[in-house]
Amino acid sequence: MKSSFLDRKIVVGPFQCNCHLLVCSETGEAALVDPGDDAARILELVKKTESEIGKPLQLKWLLHTHGHLDHIGATGAIKAAHPMAKIAIHEGDEFIYNMLKKQGELFGLKYDEPRAVEHRLNHEEEIQLGRAKFTVVHTPGHSPGSACLRMHESSDIGVQESLFSGDTLFQASVGRTDLWGADGPQMIRMIQDRILTLDGDTAVHPGHGPSTRVGVEKTSNPFLI
Ligand SMILES: [Zn+2]
Ligand SMILES: [Zn+2]
Repeated sequence: MKSSFLDRKIVVGPFQCNCHLLVCSETGEAALVDPGDDAARILELVKKTESEIGKPLQLKWLLHTHGHLDHIGATGAIKAAHPMAKIAIHEGDEFIYNMLKKQGELFGLKYDEPRAVEHRLNHEEEIQLGRAKFTVVHTPGHSPGSACLRMHESSDIGVQESLFSGDTLFQASVGRTDLWGADGPQMIRMIQDRILTLDGDTAVHPGHGPSTRVGVEKTSNPFLI
């Protein structure tokens, strides 16, 4: 029997951010990771997934790996359409999240004032979503409040682990460290201590580009070996 958990990815906005819609098809509970842009397409994906599983989704969380504009740009519009979904980010990036308009000006993009953060993610905090559980892994460096979301999913086919790594770890690369509050050596240390120590089979879903696995990056990422 297949897992009851759905992971629907769409690539949004000019910076090509990976936005994930995660759904427990048994309970209809859902979360978005990094609703960075293209709110209308994300909302369409929610509708499509509702008809796929044959029940309305309860969008409970808008989870953000960090506060850069390409990861938070559609948050306000999604919140307006799904008021029960809680806006969550690590407090270390709240100041970056709150300067969305200013971030946009630097890139010639216009944004509304962001909606207030409603939940501050803490290191090792656990969030339950249907049959899956997330653990927050604070990995500062790309930004002070960068956090990866580790998902443990137990199903009839066993336990599966995956990690939403934001802009901290990419396939064969790592995040840039020239923006607000970034710290390169700290980011590398965090990847080594808090990501590469996970099971090698853990699927890694970065904020941009293709997915990979912890074990693959541990042995072949040129920034880490
Ligand atoms: Zn970023
Ligand atoms: Zn990004």
